[in-house]
Amino acid sequence: KFITFEGGEGLGKTTNLPFVQDYLQRRNIQVISTREPGGTPLAEKIRQLLLNTEGETLSEHTELLLMFAARSQHITHVINPALAKGCWVLCDRFTDATYAYQGGGRGINTETIAWLEHWVQAGLRPDLTLLFDAPIEIGMTRAAQRGGKVDRFEAEKLSFFEQVRQAYLTRAQQDPKRIKIINAQQSLVDVQQALSTKIDELLST
Ligand code: C5P
Ligand code: MG
Repeated sequence: KFITFEGGEGLGKTTNLPFVQDYLQRRNIQVISTREPGGTPLAEKIRQLLLNTEGETLSEHTELLLMFAARSQHITHVINPALAKGCWVLCDRFTDATYAYQGGGRGINTETIAWLEHWVQAGLRPDLTLLFDAPIEIGMTRAAQRGGKVDRFEAEKLSFFEQVRQAYLTRAQQDPKRIKIINAQQSLVDVQQALSTKIDELLST
């Protein structure tokens, strides 16, 4: 099975991915964790290009195509081979992030993204997507507290993050069977309880 973790910055995707990995391993399921953009050495280089353009403006088309270039590499060399062996794959962000950031945030139309998704991924879709959601101020405060270097996306304005959030929520509405919203405002214990419930549902299907 293929599970993706989505949502804005600072809402706990990266923190909770190891929790889900451990939850599955304790049930004797083979699982790997990976992330996008990235997941292979070359795709990680593309990630660096995306996060820091050293002052050069990136056209939104370049941004979109680099995302899918990295994704194609990742799918071919990591995700598909793992799934073919019966290994579960946990991925920190995937194509829903493209609909949210390049679609909602940058304004690229959904049809263009859907076309690239179809072309690059063929039939590959997550079996379950955990969408971490909270008002954008919450994520921004937490991301700021975590400190570190601010990348090109994190430096965007509030309206960008609001559009990203709305695009994610719209996708969840359109595909409620796959995309499960996790209320990221809850305590960590409650978030992990919610995650366990969703994983149990997937295990029983
Ligand atoms: O999840 P993570 O913080 O590692 O992602 C790195 C950055 O790439 C994020 O700031 C995110 O906004 C951006 N991103 C994006 N479009 C994607 C995937 C990630 O803009 N499709
Ligand atoms: Mg992160």
